[in-house]
Amino acid sequence: MIEKLVIIGSGPAGYTAAIYAGRAQLQPLMFEGFVVGGLPGGQLMTTTEVENFPGFPEGIQGPHLMKEMRQQAVRWGAKLITDDVVRVNFSYRPFTIATDDLEIKAQAVIICTGATAKRLHIVGEQQFWNNGISACAICDGTNPLFKNVEIAVVGGGDSAAEEALYLTKYASKVHMLVRSDRLRASKIMQERVLKHDKIRVHWQALPISADGDDVLRNVQIQDQKSGVITELKVGGLFYAIGHTPNTQLFQDILDLDDKGYIKTIGKSTATNIAGVWAAGDVQDHIYRQAITAAGTGCMAALEAERWLAEIY
Ligand SMILES: Cc1cc2nc3c(=O)[nH]c(=O)nc-3n(C[C@H](O)[C@H](O)[C@H](O)COP(=O)(O)OP(=O)(O)OC[C@H]3O[C@@H](n4cnc5c(N)ncnc54)[C@H](O)[C@@H]3O)c2cc1C
Repeated sequence: MIEKLVIIGSGPAGYTAAIYAGRAQLQPLMFEGFVVGGLPGGQLMTTTEVENFPGFPEGIQGPHLMKEMRQQAVRWGAKLITDDVVRVNFSYRPFTIATDDLEIKAQAVIICTGATAKRLHIVGEQQFWNNGISACAICDGTNPLFKNVEIAVVGGGDSAAEEALYLTKYASKVHMLVRSDRLRASKIMQERVLKHDKIRVHWQALPISADGDDVLRNVQIQDQKSGVITELKVGGLFYAIGHTPNTQLFQDILDLDDKGYIKTIGKSTATNIAGVWAAGDVQDHIYRQAITAAGTGCMAALEAERWLAEIY
């Protein structure tokens, strides 16, 4: 049997694509993932309160939101397989999508495999993850934990600069921990950071451990030149050291940009291969939000539906 549409990945992008494709009677088959890109349900399974997804004025727990999206996809006829795709062949149609145990043929594919925030794996990171340590200022900055306390941001690029500036609205002071002796951020962002009276940049500084009690209290920082370790009293530590798009599977198959994100054409979600679309964080290193992932998941499903109607 040849599937009309296979969706790879089950974050907000994948489930939204499945809801739209299901409603268009495409009976999409989704591989939810299992190990490779994280949990079925995607990145929001690793967080607590989501306060910026429209429709939930009091906020909603990340895993709960994903459970509701999953149910909505199933309601509209999506078939779910909780496994990782380990191999694809897009060189001719029908395409091949394979797990370790299963090989599927499909006329069209939507890739929603997301991205993974890079971590430093410092001592204490696991203990304080989502309870002082975070990889998303826009998502977690408004947490009362960070209101009027000193916090630290790790990184020296544009994202780190943006996160540091954003966090000045809530924190009493923001320490920017930069591994080298210069910022990689654009000139304008550098200026904004360096001029900001609430931001202090620590050069050649890297956190090596975090401790506290029920919440984060301190971060130990090592000077990368002298090796000297100092302690910073902060209630929050934000990683802004980049994301890794989950695109290993598509290397040498699809056009990727220099950071490994799938390239899409113009304002569409189409990839360089007709019949293959990409939605969500796997093709977006700018916005990286659940709502934008869901939005592009919707676009991909509508584009796939139109394409399938024309081709078959
Ligand atoms: C801690 C944290 C908190 C966040 N909080 C917020 C917030 O409050 N608000 C907000 O808008 N955004 C938040 N975000 C960002 C948001 O989670 C992402 O932008 C969004 O989840 C991206 O959705 P996605 O569907 O593109 O991919 P993801 O959510 O990354 O999901 C990708 C899916 O693909 C699967 N997958 C990967 N590889 C394979 C494979 N080979 N085979 C099959 N499946 C595969 C994975 O298992 C996963 O299910 C947060 C992110 C993090 C890490």
